[in-house]
Amino acid sequence: MNLRVIEGGRDAGSVSGLLVTGASAIASLAGGLRRGAAQDDVGLFDAAVVGGLGSPDAPVLACWEGRVVGVGPRATVEAALEAAGLPVARFARIDARGGLVTPGLVDPHTHLLFAGTREAELRARQRGASYLEILEAGGGILSTVAATRAASDDELLDHGRRWLDEMLDHGTTTVEAKSGYGLDLPTELRLLEVAHRLGSEGPVDVVPTFLGAHAVPAEFRDRPDGTEAYVRHVIGVQLPGVAAQGRARFCDVFCETGVFSAEQSRRILEAARPLGLEPRLHADELAPSGGAELAAELRAWSADHLGAPSDAGIDALAAAAEGERPVVATLLPTTTWFLMKDVHAPARRLIERGVPVALGTDFNPGTSPTPVLPLVLTLAVLQLGLTPGEALTAATVNAAHAIGLGDEVGSLEPGHAADFVIWRVPNVDQLPYWPAADLARIVVKRGVVVRERT
Ligand SMILES: [Zn+2]
Repeated sequence: MNLRVIEGGRDAGSVSGLLVTGASAIASLAGGLRRGAAQDDVGLFDAAVVGGLGSPDAPVLACWEGRVVGVGPRATVEAALEAAGLPVARFARIDARGGLVTPGLVDPHTHLLFAGTREAELRARQRGASYLEILEAGGGILSTVAATRAASDDELLDHGRRWLDEMLDHGTTTVEAKSGYGLDLPTELRLLEVAHRLGSEGPVDVVPTFLGAHAVPAEFRDRPDGTEAYVRHVIGVQLPGVAAQGRARFCDVFCETGVFSAEQSRRILEAARPLGLEPRLHADELAPSGGAELAAELRAWSADHLGAPSDAGIDALAAAAEGERPVVATLLPTTTWFLMKDVHAPARRLIERGVPVALGTDFNPGTSPTPVLPLVLTLAVLQLGLTPGEALTAATVNAAHAIGLGDEVGSLEPGHAADFVIWRVPNVDQLPYWPAADLARIVVKRGVVVRERT
């Protein structure tokens, strides 16, 4: 396989190898999921501590045919490449110009695909309306559902491309994308198919998640048993259809007081698993509803939001973290911010209890319309008390594990995808320090330069 490489704005021709030099530091995030004190360890190779950029021990990143083959001190990596029969002279060079290099960011929680916008809800919230009040009044998710059902596949594809493009601009190279604005089988299948197509087009990888249980749709709401009838519809009609289609990798449920109970969420997720759809959960976003406990019990891949978990829920996640595959706590601070709430997810308690923490944008038209994952890092530092290192871990290796791709993306180590970002800042602390700034200078996906700013 030969890869096209654009170097310095010029096409460098087809080459198989890429060598990134001139980095002030490389945060490899190598070594797997991190929790507890290790969440702050970004696997840093720092030029300053080995004699500067000119030193033979200055860090480099080597990639071959879209995969990482070496990261670490230049002399060591180059010797290893030669020994492996990969002559360094045949590698295209990228000069990081004193910038930080990290893995491509992984956004483990988005509602990428929808139609319409909901800016009017900002004014309603300013007048004091709550999220659930807006939903009860037929706004919120339901207005997006109506617009999404009416949208064509091409409209959804164009929308998806536009926002994936912006995510990529800010360094995100892998995205989880939930359905959940169809709430009927045909539209849910269309959303999953569009998500799959977008991922196939590239360059951003897209992991589709089925979220039929996102809200109770209008046609079920007038019935006295509406929520229960819709749960049966999700289990009996939507899940088999989604499984037969074969696009979704996960099943998610919005487990929240006034939406789906923990018991209903359990039934849906337990029906999904034998169909090959692994569980993840919107848990305790607004109030404790048993979501964290359920995520721990089912060994879900992640428990998301966790704005208000119970003490028992945190205990359950801490106990699950001792197991072979911990439940990742995926926190979404831009949502709290955009909803103008001042109660934040207990991030420090989760980390201190050994629960691995990830961060996502929750990109959606109602409660977090931002594609900018580095902004999430800023809020995680300012509002959740994470260190910049903990936040970077949360948006790379831990996020990758939360969507089942920990062996493929989210860290720079031999065999993993050559997905990385060269930033216009020299150290990890500066990533959250410039809120929403354009910090990604070069973005590489599977060894190919897909973004370059001069
Ligand atoms: Zn969500």
